[in-house]
Amino acid sequence: MNTDLASRTALVTGGGTGIGRGMSLALAANGAAVVVNYSRSRDDAENTVEAINQAGGRAVAVQADITEESQVKHLIQQTVDAFGGLDILIANAGGRTRDAPTIDLTREDWDHGIALNCTSVFLCVKHAVEHLPDQIGRIIVTSSISARSGAGPGMVIYAAAKGVLNNMVRNWAKELGPRRITVNAIAPGVIRTRLHAQFTPPDEYKKLIERVPVGRDGLPEDCAGATVLLAGDAGSYITGQTIEINGGMAMP
Ligand code: NAD
Repeated sequence: MNTDLASRTALVTGGGTGIGRGMSLALAANGAAVVVNYSRSRDDAENTVEAINQAGGRAVAVQADITEESQVKHLIQQTVDAFGGLDILIANAGGRTRDAPTIDLTREDWDHGIALNCTSVFLCVKHAVEHLPDQIGRIIVTSSISARSGAGPGMVIYAAAKGVLNNMVRNWAKELGPRRITVNAIAPGVIRTRLHAQFTPPDEYKKLIERVPVGRDGLPEDCAGATVLLAGDAGSYITGQTIEINGGMAMP
């Protein structure tokens, strides 16, 4: 199986923490030059870059708030300038914003959650697509198990945004298919990152893990294999799919 990414450049949004960090390290370990995007987590992004460079890889950290179109444009241009092109876009950044019963959510809550999880992905793809080479170009979006399950009570905005992502991927797979650019999503289940540390109380987290057939929570590196497969030549006939990475928690 050819997973050699030696001549490829990847941009990973939110690439310095959690799942994004796991993806950045895996892509670099398979030879890709990696642009690690961050908005506020500068230390984490620089730490990830250092880990890649110390292992003999190539990486730089680039700050950009991906909900702002001008910053997305700048991020893509800085990626192209840093390594001479852009082959693999990993639209990973996102997360829960404010969870609450619908009656308590505001229009601002809705706009914020959709902007972070959905509009940002649209903007990244819109500005990346002209740079992606035919045949080689890859887009991978981080969706969620919530896209199918509907997520827990109070998470309607997050569930909506992630559900939309799965369908955007199907549409882009058709639009970009003639150029042989593949577009897929990965849908993590429960992965041990700061997202859960921030939003899921420990007893609730324990209950979630009890529902995982393989008997443990996921780690960021559990998302690496599918990412590397989809990013390289071995994944060239996989497009428009959502790959579930959840230890069997949901079997759609
Ligand atoms: P995380 O908080 O470590 O990652 C989120 C990343 O997004 C961070 O690096 C953050 O800096 C970045 N980010 C946030 N707002 C940004 C902005 N405006 N511009 C640029 N970057 C921004 O948590 P994670 O769990 O690694 O989440 C990564 C992705 O995985 C998210 O899309 C999340 O919804 C998804 N996900 C996580 C889980 C899980 O169990 N951890 C499950 C399903 C899906």
